Amino acid sequence: MNPRIYFDHSATTPLDPRVLAAMGPFLGGAFGNPSSLHHEGRVAREAVEDARAQVAALIGAEPEEIIFTGSGTEADNLALIGAVRASGRSGHIVTSSIEHAAILETCRFLAASGAKPGTRITHLPVDADGLVGPESLLRALQSNVTLVSIMAANNVVGTLQPIEELAHLTKLHGVLFHTDAVQAAGKIPLDVNRLHVDLLSLSAHKLHGPKGIGALYVRKGVCLSPVVFGGGQERGLRSATENVAGIVGFGAAAVLAREELTGEAARLAQFRTRIARELTRTLPHSYLFGHPVQRLPGHLSFGLRGEEREVGKILAALDAAGVAVSAGSACSANHTGEPSGVLLAMGYDEERARGLLRLSLGRFNTQQEVDRFLQILPQAVASVTRGAARTHERVPDLSAVALA
Ligand code: PLP
Repeated sequence: MNPRIYFDHSATTPLDPRVLAAMGPFLGGAFGNPSSLHHEGRVAREAVEDARAQVAALIGAEPEEIIFTGSGTEADNLALIGAVRASGRSGHIVTSSIEHAAILETCRFLAASGAKPGTRITHLPVDADGLVGPESLLRALQSNVTLVSIMAANNVVGTLQPIEELAHLTKLHGVLFHTDAVQAAGKIPLDVNRLHVDLLSLSAHKLHGPKGIGALYVRKGVCLSPVVFGGGQERGLRSATENVAGIVGFGAAAVLAREELTGEAARLAQFRTRIARELTRTLPHSYLFGHPVQRLPGHLSFGLRGEEREVGKILAALDAAGVAVSAGSACSANHTGEPSGVLLAMGYDEERARGLLRLSLGRFNTQQEVDRFLQILPQAVASVTRGAARTHERVPDLSAVALA
């Protein structure tokens, strides 16, 4: 039997065995608490600080600008709630309409709760490719803004935002800029100084590291209030005994991601382009979601015209044939057949917004797997949609997807 094909790296990635090897000692004998002053504690502290430097290097930051958190979600919460609470002004967050739930729900909490009374949220629109326009940001910046938060790469459609330009405009207005780089880190080059960002969220499990460990980059001089209170670890911004093994794994994953980024990005973009080309041939009613060029290297989202309601069955047929792909965000309602909020925001109607298939490739995927997938997919689609009426309208096909 053929091994399974995993094309759902935007949901999570397999742990790299080299990362597991680095974590091993800290799941066993090296169990000290980094706050302890004895030998065991010092060993743990040294490992945490080494990992901090490794994570910082991935994004061009200083080690002391990295705050370890329990996840990417928690990093997003700390950035938004922490900035609004620390600010003297009445809270106003400007964000995009296609952010991850970790941002959208935190905004909803801030707007609804007493965390900072009177907090306002502005959701910037995106175009049909999922891009935020600088003009709409400029307009929003005319009012009193505390923080702008725009994701670097979208998890559903893979579109990359022009972060450097958006952050630059934001800085000209003296406003803090946060980016959720959970999907982008390790896949495209990120440098906090070139990007002009003040805050940036990361998550280890999206770059072949362990689950349950994230980080927030906090530029020197930026003032945040904590959201977790206790023993004052992580410069008082994230109290709790550190997840030493997770942090060590994050550091090792960051080193590998940095070393392998250029080669991996080119390799995955080639796979993606080949898949897109083949799909236009074998499934001519397929159409692309997201920007054709400004997108994550190993990420391809598409729909099948006239077969939007069959996505759940196609996923199940692929799963039965040994292939794991998804219908969008692992934490969205899309699995229940609800339209994707991201696609609705991009201007798709409800029908189209139900029909997204997402392929996200990663480090251990091979050419053979791509070839096998290209055989399996049309069969899976045919098995589900046999006899279903198709429209023969011209659709924007996937051939526009260029090498990154
Ligand atoms: N932000 C984005 C863009 C994501 O895709 C995800 C996870 O899918 C998160 C934040 C949340 O990260 P975590 O799973 O570490 O909480």
